[in-house]
Amino acid sequence: MKLKDPKLLKQACYVGSKWSEALNGQTSPVVNPSTGKVIASVPVLGRDEALSAIHTAELVQKQWQKKTAKHRSQVLRRWFELVTEHSDDLATLLTSEQGKPFAEAKGEIAYAASFIEWFAEEAKRAYGEMIPSHKEDARILVSKVPVGVVGAITPWNFPAAMITRKCGPAFAAGCAVVLKPAPETPLTALALAELAERAGIPQGLFSVLTGDAAAIGSALTESAVVRKISFTGSTAVGKLLMAQSADTVKKLALELGGNAPFIVCDDADLEAAVNGVMIAKFRNAGQTCVCANRIYVQNSVYDAFSQLLVERVSQLKVGDGFAPDVTIGPLINEAAASKVQNHVDDAVAKGAVIAHGEPRNEGSLFVAPHVLLEANDDMLIATEETFGPVAALFRFDDDEDVIGRANHTESGLAAYAYTRDLARAFRFSESLEYGMVGINEGLISTEVAPFGGVKSSGLGREGARQGLDDYLETKYTLMGGL
Ligand code: ADP
Repeated sequence: MKLKDPKLLKQACYVGSKWSEALNGQTSPVVNPSTGKVIASVPVLGRDEALSAIHTAELVQKQWQKKTAKHRSQVLRRWFELVTEHSDDLATLLTSEQGKPFAEAKGEIAYAASFIEWFAEEAKRAYGEMIPSHKEDARILVSKVPVGVVGAITPWNFPAAMITRKCGPAFAAGCAVVLKPAPETPLTALALAELAERAGIPQGLFSVLTGDAAAIGSALTESAVVRKISFTGSTAVGKLLMAQSADTVKKLALELGGNAPFIVCDDADLEAAVNGVMIAKFRNAGQTCVCANRIYVQNSVYDAFSQLLVERVSQLKVGDGFAPDVTIGPLINEAAASKVQNHVDDAVAKGAVIAHGEPRNEGSLFVAPHVLLEANDDMLIATEETFGPVAALFRFDDDEDVIGRANHTESGLAAYAYTRDLARAFRFSESLEYGMVGINEGLISTEVAPFGGVKSSGLGREGARQGLDDYLETKYTLMGGL
């Protein structure tokens, strides 16, 4: 791995105010999923280091909170500029440890930077209000104050963006962050911390700890100092963290799994709908929580749509993320790849037809993109998040039926519908029980809109004005005796 700025390859953790090794000297390897080669190693930290980071964060956060919003904004702006300037190196680290094609990694770095930029701007807009008082000699002030120290735990599918969309609003609001990145992708996180330090984020305000997830997670959740947990990852771990946070009554932001329906109506612009599926299904090799999982196509356009989709999917190129023209990288690990193969096998056993795709070579993390026809609601692919490059096409006849099937899930993150009929568009937008709905759009993520789910997909919103609010408490002061 060749970086223009080699100092961005960090193999130590940023704990409290220092770059440090594990107390016991233990390390864990970082593996390139494309080659299987070890590219670096990072410390295995645990409870003690997490407690130390929390302790420093508490002290530094109190100072950071007192700074002017403009100061915090300027530091964040500088961080944004540094991330942008170093986007080639960051994308190189990202592709090396995560596998996504380099162009996509560059796109993720720009997306990650956009959260820092946005919240640098929002930092100055944490307005309170004055409410007309119920007493002549009193005034009611409502202000917004930072929640305090935040524990953040992030996944491997967006190693940069999932961090900045937590840290951007947290630092803007005046909070400190103790971050545990995914074990698969620590290098991007550590490089972001290096740039944060260069930008002037005070030492100790931001800690990044790699290592024992359960030990660090329990130190964060049990601590009375940590006032909020912001987690993106699996529903199972989200529920665990929620339960662990009960004793200290923390604020929670949970971005958990999805099982997105993607509805293509008979009046849809089919070319546009295919474009939508390509981005909503195949981005990051299908490893996003807003990926289309169940593609419902109205009977009368089913054949035409599937033909168009197969044409496009056959143009995708699987391979190493650094190779030119590659559009689908490896999946993150063997468990992920075998789950996807299992979904395909289960679907075929229950009557699905493979219109495009070929079986995975045993043990390979490279999974060919698939288009499956005649999917039905009894298949695993209908009920579980596949998290891989498999487009399963279900049939539907009428809108009520498809809305019922689309909502028949514990998940409620993202949903998509394609129609040119305005009334239908509103019906889908209003009836789909999801935190986010894309109408005639397959890419809904942006820093300017509130990202988040309902039901088992989680709590809280990231991005937009709401994303800052999630890191603020409302404080009311009654000024009496005036
Ligand atoms: P995935 O299956 O996609 O890796 P996870 O929910 O297991 O999703 O992982 C998301 C993040 O949660 C990672 O940073 C992981 O290390 C962390 N994690 C996993 N188990 C725990 C735990 N018991 N406590 C705290 N964090 C955890």
